[in-house]
Amino acid sequence: MTKIDFRSDTVTKPTPAMLDVMMQAKVGDDVFGEDETVNALEQKLANMFGMEAALFCPSGTMSNQIAIKCFTQPMDEVICDQTAHVYRYEGGGIAYNSMASVRLLHGERGILTPEMIEPEINADNIHYPNSSLVVLENTVNKGGGKCYHISQIAPIHALCVSRGLKLHLDGARIFNALVATGDKAIDYGKYFDGISVCLSKGLGAPVGSVFLSDKATIKQATRIRKVFGGGMRQAGFLAAAGIYALDNHVERLADDHKHAKALAEALQKASYVASVMPAETNIVLFDVNPNLTADAVVNAFAEKGVLCSATAAKTIRFVTHLDVDADSIAETIKIISGLQV
Ligand SMILES: *Cc1c(COP(=O)(O)O)cnc(C)c1O
Repeated sequence: MTKIDFRSDTVTKPTPAMLDVMMQAKVGDDVFGEDETVNALEQKLANMFGMEAALFCPSGTMSNQIAIKCFTQPMDEVICDQTAHVYRYEGGGIAYNSMASVRLLHGERGILTPEMIEPEINADNIHYPNSSLVVLENTVNKGGGKCYHISQIAPIHALCVSRGLKLHLDGARIFNALVATGDKAIDYGKYFDGISVCLSKGLGAPVGSVFLSDKATIKQATRIRKVFGGGMRQAGFLAAAGIYALDNHVERLADDHKHAKALAEALQKASYVASVMPAETNIVLFDVNPNLTADAVVNAFAEKGVLCSATAAKTIRFVTHLDVDADSIAETIKIISGLQV
């Protein structure tokens, strides 16, 4: 039985055309700054987002953790939503790598507002940790792929500037947000001190994330990447996949979003489903009926060849991506409708 895999948009494999470009890449030693393909990828993303410089990293976790280390000092405090990847899924890295504490907010599907952030910025008082950084996530993974619009980000930026805080974007799925909202990448550079972009999620590259910021911050980030063990040598083979993905796999994210909406609609009608979060991008989150567990429903799907993941006791996540085509979606909708749990 062929499996249809909705566990994550990280499960994609390079397409033949992407592999071909990787094989042809011109490479050099990137720790010496001599890999022209890595340099081209960094330049391309910096230009797209209107940032001065960029740094290719092995993972989104590393690019976020480098950013947090650049933008904080030990004893500082980072402000983010309680569902934030930087807090929940990076292994306690904020404490371990940056020796900073975290103030968790309760956004609506992970979306923060200036009104939520402002009262949580500590006054200048020796009892309090120094609030130095706000981290936003776009799209919000645990918010079911919910997007910020740039109009919601501008006032958060204004607050951070007025109170002397830095603003970082965990943009693991920023291209999903850009495609869904119609916002422009170039406007993001105006508002964020740092941006992490993942190439290995919906864009379909096998490896890689890029941290974007100003020149001085990227110089410091390069030092931190070395300390973290993330300085790579002939990394141009990987960067070539990233360039290919940026040129060929951005617009098609609209298909993933259409597919997610179709799955959400089918799930809405299923007898074992209690509620479905509206699908805005490529993530569908839904709760199963109170008499069921998410694990039981995940297992029932797996028996039919559909892989998805339990993200809480009653919550299941489907993520659409490059390796699930329209036929597989039609097949999955049939399985959703016919499933007996
Ligand atoms: C996947 C992801 C990351 C980075 O994950 P890596 O697996 O380390 O590349 C960061 N933030 C969010 C929201 C993510 O979904």
